Amino acid sequence: MEKKDRHELYNKLDKKLGHKHQLIILIEECGELIRASTKVLRYGLENEKVCENFVEELGDVEICIETMRTITKIKDLDARVNNSKKFKLLRVKKRLEDKEDL
Ligand SMILES: [Mg+2]
Repeated sequence: MEKKDRHELYNKLDKKLGHKHQLIILIEECGELIRASTKVLRYGLENEKVCENFVEELGDVEICIETMRTITKIKDLDARVNNSKKFKLLRVKKRLEDKEDL
């Protein structure tokens, strides 16, 4: 599905169900990704069923993130998220170079 079509879909869902419902879905999907991640730790990605579930939950969370980015209409969201990511990645890079605890 094209980006434009996904955004149209997210906005339709938001109109029908509202932000609160989308936040609940985000929370649920994060929980499912956490659960899938624990299975990866227990059984490894070599386990096809575990790997497939992990991939599915990554996709679900990505959809939720894209949905939230679309429907919240937060001012300058892309720039703000990118600044936050830049700050955190530089901090991790510095900690790695300084051999600090991550
Ligand atoms: Mg899911």
